[in-house]
Amino acid sequence: MAKRQLNRRQNWRIEKIQGERADRAAKREQHVLQELEGGDLGPEQFGLVIAHFGVQVEVEAQDGDTVGQIFRCHLRANLPALVTGDRVVWRAGNQGIGVIVAQLPRSTELTRPNNQGVLKPVAANVDLIVIVFAPAPEPHANLIDRYLVAAEHAGIRPLLLLNKADLINEQNAPALNALLEVYRDLGYPLLEVSAHHGDGMQQLQKMLDGHVSVFVGQSGVGKSSLVNSLLPQAHTRVGDLSEWSGQGTHTTTTARLYHFPNGGDLIDSPGIREFGLVHVSRDDVEAGFIEFSELFGTCRFRDCKHDREPGCALLKALDEGRIKPQRMHSYRSIIVSLTEDSY
Ligand code: GDP
Ligand code: ZN
Repeated sequence: MAKRQLNRRQNWRIEKIQGERADRAAKREQHVLQELEGGDLGPEQFGLVIAHFGVQVEVEAQDGDTVGQIFRCHLRANLPALVTGDRVVWRAGNQGIGVIVAQLPRSTELTRPNNQGVLKPVAANVDLIVIVFAPAPEPHANLIDRYLVAAEHAGIRPLLLLNKADLINEQNAPALNALLEVYRDLGYPLLEVSAHHGDGMQQLQKMLDGHVSVFVGQSGVGKSSLVNSLLPQAHTRVGDLSEWSGQGTHTTTTARLYHFPNGGDLIDSPGIREFGLVHVSRDDVEAGFIEFSELFGTCRFRDCKHDREPGCALLKALDEGRIKPQRMHSYRSIIVSLTEDSY
């Protein structure tokens, strides 16, 4: 990882510069906020954070005369960092600028480590994680399982989405079916679609309606194609955004919330698409393999590695077919990768 290559002195300098930058931004922000608070603020109303830019957020009004309209908002100093998907109480100021006065409790949180390795929320109130895979690039159970672990850990329902169904053929079908069967048996919802040919897309839309979803998955599986097919207008809005913020780089890092026409939202950003790949602890993994979790703690030895130990509950379940070899293999390789990553 890159951060390992930076020495302490370099790290210290980066932190110092970032700290100074943040201080200056906070001072400017404080000034704007004081001016706003000094003027006439509208009544308190509910809003939804649809994008996030450093110290400011974009809020969609959820009630009042301006419902559905979008306002740039400053944050009162005592507020925690807000993220896309947060529900807030805000007050309109003049010239379409507002002030956030409160954050409503989150039902769920997606988190990612920042450059210092500290877990930070990146999206709030997501209730469906769509794990996308495809016949090509060849899917890895290991990767799907990592996303499943992350979804279970966040308390968010996963949906397994096989895209590029048009590419299924006699060669790849047996392996794909074997892979899918494991997840079907575990009770995970599964859908096959083709973003290109449109097969299954209406069914997908139905499953997304009424939910706040994110799409995750390996590069090349068709996430952009799916998003573009579901939300043809999303592309142009991303373009608008960079003009509006005047900082093109933000468009690639900030998460943005889009509405589906029949209700339901999609939160999307490159950072979110990789959600779940970076940070999982051993406990998260054990809880995330749902068919394993009741077995942990029932092995003969308390420190059982579930490798060759006599009296291992997992090995017994594997023998009896209650645990599938694919999942056992995946579990082991994820655990090994955790040990490699920890430093
Ligand atoms: P992302 O990296 O996950 O966002 O994937 P993209 O949406 O960029 O798609 C990667 C490649 O797969 C592109 O060449 C797409 O045209 C192609 N692709 C996406 N969806 C489908 C599909 O349903 N069928 C086929 N055959 N190709 C697709
Ligand atoms: Zn064991």
